[in-house]
Amino acid sequence: MKRILLKLSGEALAGDKHQGFDEATVTVVAKQIKEVVEQGTQVGIVIGGGNFWRGRSSETIDRTKADQIGMLATVMNCIYVSEILRSVGLKTAVLTPFECGSMTKLFSKDRANKYFEKNMVVLFAGGTGHPYFSTDTATVLRAIEIEAEGIYLAKAIDGVYDSDPKINPDARKYDQISIDEVIEKKLAVIDLTASIMCMENKMPMYVFGLNEENGIVKAVTGDFNGTKVTV
Ligand code: UDP
Repeated sequence: MKRILLKLSGEALAGDKHQGFDEATVTVVAKQIKEVVEQGTQVGIVIGGGNFWRGRSSETIDRTKADQIGMLATVMNCIYVSEILRSVGLKTAVLTPFECGSMTKLFSKDRANKYFEKNMVVLFAGGTGHPYFSTDTATVLRAIEIEAEGIYLAKAIDGVYDSDPKINPDARKYDQISIDEVIEKKLAVIDLTASIMCMENKMPMYVFGLNEENGIVKAVTGDFNGTKVTV
């Protein structure tokens, strides 16, 4: 079976509010994930935390503590999305790299595989469990561990451009680009640590626009018109 890792930013859950959750927005995403699962794809999900907090959000408090808050923000996001996925009829599990009591289960590859085999959507919350990392790094790490076919990066923009299209009207979108070129040109698809991990472990990425109608379904089930990052 095809197995993918879908990365959603925290902001993707907030809709026009830009903070917290917007149920209508997340329900649209959930229905698309349902379609993908029903078409026979196993889906793992990593979600950012930017709709609540980033490690860089405060100059006052210690970075390690700020990052812990960020990781907990991703746990809230995953519990929320898990519930919305259940409301549309999917089975889900939330795994974290640290104990969260009865709220989540501790991550292990074997446990993730067990859930995938039961046709459940597996949400990888809490990032890597370590400060100074990001959910980009967690995305690549989990994708490698679960032996995903590729990472599907849902973005506010519909692919990778040679410059920022908001600033440069002549910006050119790539249909395909190598991860080496992404790193060399500092194209900021994912952060550098995560990019290097992708390169070393030959994990391809598919970057597409979440705001496009049925964006996730199209990207995963063949009608892909974003940017493929090759390895
Ligand atoms: N974070 C962390 N370790 C991880 C993943 C996330 O410390 O393995 C923290 C970090 O503070 C980050 C926040 O969680 O800023 C939210 O994650 P996200 O990747 O959305 O943040 P961004 O890359 O946008 O700063």
